[in-house]
Amino acid sequence: MTDFDATRALFQLPEGIVYLDGNSLGPLPKTAAARIARTVEAEWGGLLIGGWNEAGWMAQPARLGDRIGRLIGAPAGSVVLGDTLSIKVYQALAAALALRPERRVILSDDGNFPSDLYMAAGLIGLLGPDYELRTVAPDAVADALTDEIAVLMLTEVDYRTGRRHDMADLTRAAHRVGALTVWDLAHSAGALPVDVTAAQADFAVGCTYKYLNGGPGAPAFIHVAPAHAETATPALSGWLGHAAPFAFDPRYRPGTGIERMRVGTPPVLQMAALEAALDIWERVDMAALRARSIALSERLIAHIEAACPDLTLASPRDSAARGSQVSFRHPDGYAVIRAAAARGVIGDFRAPDILRFGITPLYLSEADIDRAATVLAEIIRRRLWDDPAYSARAFVT
Ligand SMILES: *Cc1c(COP(=O)(O)O)cnc(C)c1O
Repeated sequence: MTDFDATRALFQLPEGIVYLDGNSLGPLPKTAAARIARTVEAEWGGLLIGGWNEAGWMAQPARLGDRIGRLIGAPAGSVVLGDTLSIKVYQALAAALALRPERRVILSDDGNFPSDLYMAAGLIGLLGPDYELRTVAPDAVADALTDEIAVLMLTEVDYRTGRRHDMADLTRAAHRVGALTVWDLAHSAGALPVDVTAAQADFAVGCTYKYLNGGPGAPAFIHVAPAHAETATPALSGWLGHAAPFAFDPRYRPGTGIERMRVGTPPVLQMAALEAALDIWERVDMAALRARSIALSERLIAHIEAACPDLTLASPRDSAARGSQVSFRHPDGYAVIRAAAARGVIGDFRAPDILRFGITPLYLSEADIDRAATVLAEIIRRRLWDDPAYSARAFVT
């Protein structure tokens, strides 16, 4: 079992805040500042260029990749860190397409995160006019799987509504028609139990600054199933994915296994912060996390539905079909979110009308959920959102 009072004490959360936005940016682990300071002062400051070998900087993308692998059911040596998630989406997609050279269609759903769709569109724009990105409604994906499909590219948990695809089922269906799968775990890793091995996912990618709490700018991860490890071509063929980066060979030769998915110099300072966050995950039992996430989510839904008839549930009611967030719709959702933040309850807004609340058991309690519901109820009942101060949109919503 996991002691969630103990994990809460490991985060630095400002006094008086209920933080329901850990699905967008996780909070600061208390040990992160000292861990970063050590990397800066002792390693960078003390070892200079020696840090690459002596402090293990060069091995860190694979070492931390293995620690993330344990959270997503990936075997050791099948996950590596680097770049941003958008770039890892592109890389996984390009590698998957190259493994199905006779096919031309990428299938996704029209609720997918725009950056994933933009990256796919950019990639096929380069590949030529006979390639196609086909999007269908999320519940029409299984029926759209035909033998034209090269790659099924999906985000397991929808960033707006929290609706969850069945990764194992859809992967099986994709494989039946000969397609490969690229799963985006941005809202899954650290949010719920994931088993890419049991689901037989071909490629999986995700970010580490949301539920995993690696900090703003923390590197993304990519997993390649061992079956494809030696045949997948990385597309973004940078020197650190080369078999021998320090041979300075003018011809590219892909590195062994997951090493080939590296591109360039790793973000050492960001990885120091991520390492502090991953220490916390060592204490967490994912089944216990999921049970508590569901209990807290149900509690928030029950309170809000009882007190705020103007807010309509946008997430699936069935907890098995949800990730670890709860979303509601309101025509003035942005103003409601701003009014709540002004009262210490932090969620976020996604256009056109979605209020999102991330449910993160590592640092949220029943009392936090109750306070959030009480504050929202008061904002709705007294129309406190209806104030010009809350309607001017910031750039980041
Ligand atoms: C958060 C998120 C991203 C963000 O990509 P970055 O390159 O890290 O900015 C991409 N895809 C999905 C599904 C996300 O949820």
